[in-house]
Amino acid sequence: MKRLVLLGPPGAGKGTQAAKISAKYEIPHISTGDIFRKNIKEGTPLGKKAKEYMDRGELVPDDLVIDRVEDRLTWDDCVNGFMLDGFPRTIYQADAFKAWLAENDSCLDAVLNISVPEEILLPRMIGRRVCRSCGATYHVTNMPTKVEGVCDKCGGEVYQRDDDKEGTVLNRFKVYDAQTAPLIDYYEKDGSIRNIDGTADPNEVFDVIVDILGA
Ligand code: ADP
Ligand code: AMP
Repeated sequence: MKRLVLLGPPGAGKGTQAAKISAKYEIPHISTGDIFRKNIKEGTPLGKKAKEYMDRGELVPDDLVIDRVEDRLTWDDCVNGFMLDGFPRTIYQADAFKAWLAENDSCLDAVLNISVPEEILLPRMIGRRVCRSCGATYHVTNMPTKVEGVCDKCGGEVYQRDDDKEGTVLNRFKVYDAQTAPLIDYYEKDGSIRNIDGTADPNEVFDVIVDILGA
């Protein structure tokens, strides 16, 4: 069983590693950011509400997040565990999630905390490109698509997220420091945290994660 949470600032490489972890351990990659972007694309009421906050680089209110995640975790594909990417992001969310796990006789197997200094994060964020169809993540210089603007995996259109423009990114770092970084202490007290240096090449970071989680 692999019930995992990925922590780390925006641009740490959570989505990149989550995709690899999900493929290797056959557990779903559950990204709250992806859930909101899908709702925005489909024009749902949740998407309209979430967009207001996301465009400013702020967090979507806790009550719009928690129920979605808890519902998603009851799907059949979570039978071998799950890989949460971008949740929890506040102490309130972490407390709600802890209560949900206890109610469901479950627990977390590991919280993987990926650290990267801010001066490396900014160029990563500004250069990030994402596929509009399948959500695959690229970088204009570190991990470019084979054909510019076209996803290697599905042929979809690759674009820059609105919240990856410099002004919004700087606000997202502030929001991370104020609201999400305290979760490192929170999970350190729980004893479930594993700290990972996210500055290396993505494959090297993944090797460290596999060492921690087991082959
Ligand atoms: P997060 O999900 O934590 O916000 P991403 O996985 O989307 O971060 O990565 C942010 C950007 O940095 C993407 O453009 C990605 O291609 C690139 N990236 C991810 N991991 C690394 C790495 N280890 N080294 C260099 N660039 C990386
Ligand atoms: P991400 O794709 O993880 O970078 O998230 C993009 C944006 O979605 C964030 O900047 C928030 O506005 C919103 N978001 C994603 N996950 C959460 C969460 N757990 N709580 C609140 N807002 C979130």
